[in-house]
Order: sequence, then C-alpha cells, then structure tokens
Amino acid sequence: MAETELYARILGIEAPWRVAAVKLQLGQGQIVIEVEHDPDVPTTCPECGQAVPRHDTRTRRWRHLDTCQYRTIIEAGVPRTSCPKHGTLTMRVSWADG
Ligand SMILES: [Zn+2]
Repeated sequence: MAETELYARILGIEAPWRVAAVKLQLGQGQIVIEVEHDPDVPTTCPECGQAVPRHDTRTRRWRHLDTCQYRTIIEAGVPRTSCPKHGTLTMRVSWADG
C-alpha cells in the first residue's frame, strides 16, 4: 500500500479529497500530510451542496495525533466556493470535525 493511501485510510480522507504527498521532515521531527481537493471534481457550496465555481484556495494546517515520536501535520489547500446564493464560503473538511 502506498503511504498516501495508508494515510488517507488512517485519516478517513475520501473523495473529492485525496492525499497528494506525505513528507517526512526529520529535522523538524514532523510528518506533513499534504491533502488536496481533486481538481477534476467541482467544488460544492457547503450550505446548499450545489456545484459552484471555486473562488480561491487557502492553505490551512491541522495538528493531528502524533505518529510515533513525530508531530503529524495535515496541510490542505481548502477551496473557498463562490455560490450565487450563499456567497464566498470555505469548504468543510472531514478531518477537522470534532
Ligand atoms: Zn449555496
């Protein structure tokens, strides 16, 4: 199993999100898991669920449970959507719930 798939399973990341890369940064004692929204899948408004244009993308970071002695960081380019009804909203991400 590829490490990107392994981390997708561990973190419960599902389409349209995917793990693009896993970077082991030994010097900083951390693992950075890069998550992206599949560019081939339309972004959807978090309010109404309609496929709407992407307004822009903001890079956000979350601290996850550590992997052994390494800090585990999820870094994702989170699209903001441009809905004609609801305006500019940030897409929800499953791994940030709770
Ligand atoms: Zn909407």
